[in-house]
Amino acid sequence: MLGEEAMPAGERSSATGDRLYLRNVIYFGALHALPLGALITGASRGAFVAAAVLYVVRIWFVTCGYHSYFSHRAFKTSRWFQLVLAIGAQTSSQGSVLGWAATHRYHHVHADAPSDLHSPHHRGLWYAHIGWLLRTEYLARSQPRTGPFAAFPELVWLDRHPYVPPVCLATALALGLGWPGLFIGYGLSTLAVYHATFAVNSLAHRFGARPYATPDGSRNNWLVALIMLGGGWHNNHHRFPRSARHGLRWWELDVSYGVLVVLGWLALVSEIRVPRPESLSEHAVRRTPERSHRPC
Ligand SMILES: [Zn+2]
Ligand SMILES: [Zn+2]
Repeated sequence: MLGEEAMPAGERSSATGDRLYLRNVIYFGALHALPLGALITGASRGAFVAAAVLYVVRIWFVTCGYHSYFSHRAFKTSRWFQLVLAIGAQTSSQGSVLGWAATHRYHHVHADAPSDLHSPHHRGLWYAHIGWLLRTEYLARSQPRTGPFAAFPELVWLDRHPYVPPVCLATALALGLGWPGLFIGYGLSTLAVYHATFAVNSLAHRFGARPYATPDGSRNNWLVALIMLGGGWHNNHHRFPRSARHGLRWWELDVSYGVLVVLGWLALVSEIRVPRPESLSEHAVRRTPERSHRPC
């Protein structure tokens, strides 16, 4: 299981340091091997359909659950739908929503500074993409789990048991579709969701347009936006981090935001944040000493 189980902050920060995180190395190795099981058992059309559907659905939960809601509070929702967002996000095996949000907020504060956990400008594309997850350094940065969401017992429980949603999903796929359901429906789609998500940290901080002069190296990358349902308009996002809408121009397709709008019509979410129209042309951002580094 990717991610980290909750443990007292003091214990973690003193126990981790920065060394090879063997558990994640083994986990990622095993997950990359999982789809190969279909070479033995064979695949099925149902397993590929499940993989495609689960890819799209879980990417939406990553962009709107982990990211827009739990990391940036870009919209509001009810307590029960908040739990749906948390469970849906955690089926992607990227750890608890509390831990993911803590790590991501750290990224925004340190974006592309030497202290950023996954900047391609300091440690290379491989490290920004996945290498940082194979080291223990990031564990300390995902602590403590503070903020209003840490007050919900159900989210704290999911933080302590982050593996429950993905294990339930994998088991259901295996029971419903047999081994191809596990190898392709779960394994292949989970792998695709990982690398699409990771591309935001690597490719969308290295390649693409920079309509806004943010003090980091974030880019609007159309390919990442496509595979992340809008999550690749990353320079827009760093300029307007509280906005639930990342595609800000008519041609910047943002499927995730479109789904949020529909959920708003259904009264499942509310107060969806978007930038003020007049602020879209404000290209300059105030620099702070903490974020004065600009690699691009
Ligand atoms: Zn970023
Ligand atoms: Zn963000």
